[in-house]
Amino acid sequence: MGHVGIVGCGIGGLALAIALRQQDLPVTVFDKFDAPRPVGSGLVMQPVGLEVLAALDCEIGVRALGTQLNRMVGHEADSGRVVLDVNYDKSGVETGLAIHRASLFHVLYQKAHQVGVEIEHGAEIVNREKRRLVYAGGKRTSEFDLIVDAAGASSPLSPLKPRPLPYGAVWGTVPWATGTELPRDELRQCYRRANKMMGILPLGQLPDDPSPIAAVFWSLPLRGIANWEAVELEDWKREARALWPEAQKFLETINSPTDMTPATYSHGQLARPYGDGIVHIGDAAHRASPQLGQGANMALLDALALARAIERGPLNEARERYHRARRMHVWLYQALSRSFTPQYQSDSSVLPILRDHVLTPISHIPPTPRLLSLLVRGKLATPLGDLTHPS
Ligand SMILES: Cc1cc2nc3c(=O)[nH]c(=O)nc-3n(C[C@H](O)[C@H](O)[C@H](O)COP(=O)(O)OP(=O)(O)OC[C@H]3O[C@@H](n4cnc5c(N)ncnc54)[C@H](O)[C@@H]3O)c2cc1C
Repeated sequence: MGHVGIVGCGIGGLALAIALRQQDLPVTVFDKFDAPRPVGSGLVMQPVGLEVLAALDCEIGVRALGTQLNRMVGHEADSGRVVLDVNYDKSGVETGLAIHRASLFHVLYQKAHQVGVEIEHGAEIVNREKRRLVYAGGKRTSEFDLIVDAAGASSPLSPLKPRPLPYGAVWGTVPWATGTELPRDELRQCYRRANKMMGILPLGQLPDDPSPIAAVFWSLPLRGIANWEAVELEDWKREARALWPEAQKFLETINSPTDMTPATYSHGQLARPYGDGIVHIGDAAHRASPQLGQGANMALLDALALARAIERGPLNEARERYHRARRMHVWLYQALSRSFTPQYQSDSSVLPILRDHVLTPISHIPPTPRLLSLLVRGKLATPLGDLTHPS
């Protein structure tokens, strides 16, 4: 097996590069960023993603910068009634880990460097010609034995045409508020119907600063996202305080709309995430809203599955083997995300009533709590199929 060219130095691309180097395979990663540049705010690493990080020898580093997450709780703003309550694992073994994207990136990037991954920055790839990549400007790379598209939601190589979702969110990173009564090991959300939602996610710390931080997110319809920079910040803060008074302390360091980054979401998956000489992983292969907190975990699982499929050889069978191993898990989480997201982010007046008065009571009846816990942990269906163990 020869040289693998990976487009995208994000979560999936770095994870795959590390896994392939662990098998002594030569890899080159291309990214359009001029310098390593982690962007964005918080992520939840689920037990399933933490297991991949352990296989990549990155788990300890990630745990040192993230913070353990034991529970996800959402309440309805006006009644105060808890309408979402998912406990990870009462024994405390299989918990989540909330982490800033920059911290996750830092750990993966350091490890990639350590195991000898070659990374080319400032390399915007716009196309491919058979087994060569085409840079913006027209130059071509040398030939690879396999090209992996890990270029995320804006991949120029993926044929995926996802469906844009009607709601996105603005996300900001703030200091963990002193004097808050919100617990440091829980994701908390507050809803009014499905058209208002705010969340606070404790995040651990940034790589170079031990101060505890949190992510604040505020759900908005697409027109609100487009107009976000023109929003009157005080009006927004007043609305946020009225929705969820306990979150007020987290708003104090937000001084401009530009302190919050808009994010739009979409849904969709490739029926066959590979073609002649190319494999798509992560958001380039499937996309969902972050409501179930699985996207980064899915990218990590794809990366490990592909590395193990390559390890089993031969290369022309690895693409199909990777697809077979991941197909069921990806399909299931796409379907679940499609049905859960509108309960929390949509203009529907019926779905939030169903959520609060039918689904919430059901969620307390065994075995639903266990199934919900398995769902958030990423363990409904076997994530890696017959590639669960290294060969
Ligand atoms: C606001 C928000 C919150 C989220 N929260 C969660 C969460 O709690 N839990 C979770 O698991 N997931 C979450 N996700 C989803 C998660 O971030 C993605 O699923 C994950 O980052 C996908 O990883 P990836 O490797 O496919 O792509 P990315 O991590 O996006 O990496 C893609 C890389 O490709 C590079 N690239 C793109 N185009 C080119 C090009 N033309 N040439 C060269 N390089 C290129 C980019 O610069 C980037 O470095 C969230 C997403 C958003 C937007």
